[in-house]
Amino acid sequence: MKEFFEARFQALKEYLSSITEGFSTIGIITEIIDIILVIALIVFIIYSLRLRFKRKKLVLITIIALLIFALAFFFSLTFMQFIMKYLGFWLLGLILIIYNQEIRRLFDKNLHEVVSNKAFTSEEEKKRVIDTLVNSAIYLSERKTGALITVEGKESLDAIIEKSIIINSDVSLEMLSTLFYVGTVTHDGGVIIRGNTIKCAGALYPTTNRYDIPKNLGTRHRAAIGMSEHCDGVTIVVSEETGNISLTYHGGIEIGITPEKLRELLDQYIVKK
Ligand code: ATP
Ligand code: MG
Repeated sequence: MKEFFEARFQALKEYLSSITEGFSTIGIITEIIDIILVIALIVFIIYSLRLRFKRKKLVLITIIALLIFALAFFFSLTFMQFIMKYLGFWLLGLILIIYNQEIRRLFDKNLHEVVSNKAFTSEEEKKRVIDTLVNSAIYLSERKTGALITVEGKESLDAIIEKSIIINSDVSLEMLSTLFYVGTVTHDGGVIIRGNTIKCAGALYPTTNRYDIPKNLGTRHRAAIGMSEHCDGVTIVVSEETGNISLTYHGGIEIGITPEKLRELLDQYIVKK
């Protein structure tokens, strides 16, 4: 019995040394780096699938992926090259499917009519609108009144506005809180703002068809994300269930932000035309 195991062990040793024979230290290190990079790539793909998407991240993902591929070629990492040869095509397909909205938006962008009228006449006016929006978000959030407010960017939302309830009033807390007051016709759907004017209420937004959105976010939040994929405007969401304030822009969502953060993001993302 003992001899049997000794013989097996010896055979295994010989087999292993036959594999590693001819391997230099550099060769072994390269193999290890190769395997680590492949594992890193797999972990990275899984992580990317779970990311809440932002356009910035697509750039980062592309840069990291290109870096890994460059390393694979530079150091002749055979395992990595093998993976790339057989999986590269499928990975590209996977990326196209996952980011189809963002890619479509890139092509879509030039098809939107550009708003020609000046949105804000001055920096003070923009600041006043932001103040009103932040105060309205706080007011609606404290009362857990659901709301969806989009500030139009450079791309015109006329196509959606035309099908909604036309308001054309100044932006004010009184007006916004009335429009979203439960029981009114306008509380359902979104409000679209252009400059200092509430253009419409009860607007039906395009909904996102992304599947990597937290389960607790319902149709209102999905509509807000959809709108941010559709145009360059920013959308404020107030949750009826939690009172949480969120903001969507560039296809991404910041969930449960403070009024200070809301002000900061609005200041950054509301475009002056
Ligand atoms: P909340 O946190 O406020 O409950 P939610 O994300 O869970 O929001 P729902 O509870 O499904 O979403 O909210 C439904 C409301 O969202 C609708 O009554 C309507 O006012 C608004 N809504 C849903 N879809 C759209 C859409 N495509 N366009 C505009 N408004 C929408
Ligand atoms: Mg809900």
